[in-house]
Amino acid sequence: MQCPFCNHTELKVTDSRNAVEQNAVRRRRECLSCLRRFTTFETVDLTIQVKKRDGRYEDFQQEKLIKGLDAACRHTRTSHEQVRTLAYEITTDLMEKQVREISTTELGEIVMRRLRDLDMIAYIRFACVYRRFKNVEELVKAIQEITPKDEAEDLLENQLLTKG
Ligand SMILES: [Zn+2]
Repeated sequence: MQCPFCNHTELKVTDSRNAVEQNAVRRRRECLSCLRRFTTFETVDLTIQVKKRDGRYEDFQQEKLIKGLDAACRHTRTSHEQVRTLAYEITTDLMEKQVREISTTELGEIVMRRLRDLDMIAYIRFACVYRRFKNVEELVKAIQEITPKDEAEDLLENQLLTKG
């Protein structure tokens, strides 16, 4: 890092409190050469590794989570703002628990638990992608797991009627 005024590279951190805001740390710095002060924002390295089904790892990305949630919530009563809030809550929860590694399956289950309380249709859509149902029976079973029996049957009936 260098001073934005004189390009000097020796800096000191003047603010002892490091504010964590939206995954970023704000620091007040002072250039040791020109003595000017400025603020830097550093993105916190989450270092959460997501283990994919094929065994490969990738960095956890909140943006990717938001994309997945947006797809599930499209044309539902859940807004993009609610999706962002949900993704942020899931992310900060992982950070607070100091999770370093999580499988796509575990992550999917966390998301599904949250979606189940928020939006039933979004939940089912998300579950379809994450659980990769092999047939209709598996999907029906998943719906029955989360709703009282009568409600599940009504829901399915409505879906079937809509599709003609
Ligand atoms: Zn300077």
